[in-house]
Amino acid sequence: MNRPIGVENPEVCKVCGGKCCKTYPGLATPEDFGAPDIEKLKKNLFKALSSGRWTVDWVKQEEGLYFVRPAVKGFEGSVFDHRYTGECTFLTQTGCKLSFENRPESCRMLIPKIDERCDSQGYTRAVVAQRWKEYYDILIDVAIDVENSNF
Ligand code: SF4
Ligand code: SF4
Repeated sequence: MNRPIGVENPEVCKVCGGKCCKTYPGLATPEDFGAPDIEKLKKNLFKALSSGRWTVDWVKQEEGLYFVRPAVKGFEGSVFDHRYTGECTFLTQTGCKLSFENRPESCRMLIPKIDERCDSQGYTRAVVAQRWKEYYDILIDVAIDVENSNF
């Protein structure tokens, strides 16, 4: 699968000041970390989770519905985190620290509109967690490896 890129609209977002990023970090997909190439996925996930800037969150643990997102500011360093609100660790005073192509898929695909009536294009936690489901074993194995390497 190709990674969809989307279109940036800095003029609109500059006026807004990043309200979406201040509410909750964008959701990343397996393709953001190299899927369907399993070796790339493992390597990139390990690197991202080890950095403390990315975390594993979930919708329903009992159904294996997990996903990956940037950490919330002030809570970096947790491999697993389940808070519902908070500012994205990558938001700076001048916008997102990540280059557009390195942002989570849901950040890239969001369509900014004036008055913050932005179109999230259906990237809910539930939808993104379904995308991760086929990589559940890999995601959890890598997350546990990172946790163990932190001790
Ligand atoms: S996408 Fe929308 S809410 Fe987010 S910074 Fe841009 S205008 Fe604001
Ligand atoms: S990664 Fe960047 S664009 Fe996405 S929520 Fe964080 S600061 Fe905003």
